Amino acid sequence: MRTGIPCEKPGQALVAATPQTVSRLVRLGYEVHVQRGAGQAASFPDSAYEEAGARVTDEAQVWDCEVVLGVDAPDEEHLALMSPGTTYVGRLAPARSPRLVEALRARGLTGLALDAVPRISRAQAMDVLSSQANLAGYRAVIEAAAHFGRVFTGQVTAAGKLPPASVYVIGAGVAGLAAIGTASSLGAQVRGTDVRPEVEDQVRSMGATFIPVPSAPGHQEASSDGYARQMSAEQAELAAALYAKEAAQADIVITTASVPGRQAPVLLSRAALEGMRPGSVVVDMAAANGGNTELTVPSEVVLTDGGVTIVGYTDLAGRLPTQASQLYGQNLVNLLTLMTPAKDGVLRLDLEDQVVRGITVTHAGEILWPPPAVTVS
Ligand code: NAD
Repeated sequence: MRTGIPCEKPGQALVAATPQTVSRLVRLGYEVHVQRGAGQAASFPDSAYEEAGARVTDEAQVWDCEVVLGVDAPDEEHLALMSPGTTYVGRLAPARSPRLVEALRARGLTGLALDAVPRISRAQAMDVLSSQANLAGYRAVIEAAAHFGRVFTGQVTAAGKLPPASVYVIGAGVAGLAAIGTASSLGAQVRGTDVRPEVEDQVRSMGATFIPVPSAPGHQEASSDGYARQMSAEQAELAAALYAKEAAQADIVITTASVPGRQAPVLLSRAALEGMRPGSVVVDMAAANGGNTELTVPSEVVLTDGGVTIVGYTDLAGRLPTQASQLYGQNLVNLLTLMTPAKDGVLRLDLEDQVVRGITVTHAGEILWPPPAVTVS
């Protein structure tokens, strides 16, 4: 089959295939067509794609392929360029995009949402949310360091002593653990909290002190898909008091709390932010989904009246476009390896497979979202 790699929309530096992943797609039997300039923002020139076995071509030819691999959802213009029966694979956010899902169905397209891979061990190699969150957690610390007017590592110099920075990370999932590891390696003193007490060992193994949320009756546990559930009001109140207290003592706070399918919970109220020291920095990793603080502005850096900087960048992984594209592209190769069992360049949609079923949003004029619930393996 012909597989197309289009240019993403302006502002998206990632590309769905790199020269390295193109050669793997070719080994799976696909004929790969890369749109001219698709890899430019991620530092992959057209010539490198050609050397890897792709044809570098124009927009119309790429969208005319039987399989199109993208990063974000296609817009109306690109939906119209695809013929019925085409498979589009990308981050479709189906839970938040009912109009897109209907448009995919109406055009007879097979839509595969790479951001809906179930959180089961077999699917880890295809999980773009995890691969990108890991890089984003690293980058969140780098952004914090850039906005923080002091050093991370404690130093004793001839001119005096400089204390280490104290970093507090709320939410110890993929992004939070990466942030903890990065901040520790830069020499900061790191504390971390999660509503799931079972992550304590992981937090400690990354070099941080674990601060548990006091438990209210009926408190939150991990759901069967490995994500957090929404908190009870009583639990949220206990947590908010802890976050405000810890934030007031920290130089840098990194918030990563999310609950799938819902707006991100507000962890730091205006009052909690007012309680932080001037010069402190908050990096709100949930900015795109409503934000974990009351004063976050998505994609912007805000300086509060109290001198606290709130970083709301929504493209943290995209700020590392070469490696973010490499990991994203490899996640796609892993998915296509699963879906091309004969390595003959023919994509097979096996809806009996839990991973394939989990990401199939539309097929043959039908909406297949949401998928049946999964069991953790
Ligand atoms: P994850 O599901 O692995 O981790 C989220 C963690 O937060 C879980 O461990 C969960 O238990 C915890 N949590 C949920 N509610 C909480 C609460 N009220 N208090 C404390 N902990 C709570 O998710 P992830 O892959 O690590 O991603 C984390 C966040 O980063 C998400 O919001 C994601 O969208 C975002 N993200 C942002 C960027 C960016 O560029 N800004 C990039 C990648 C990911």
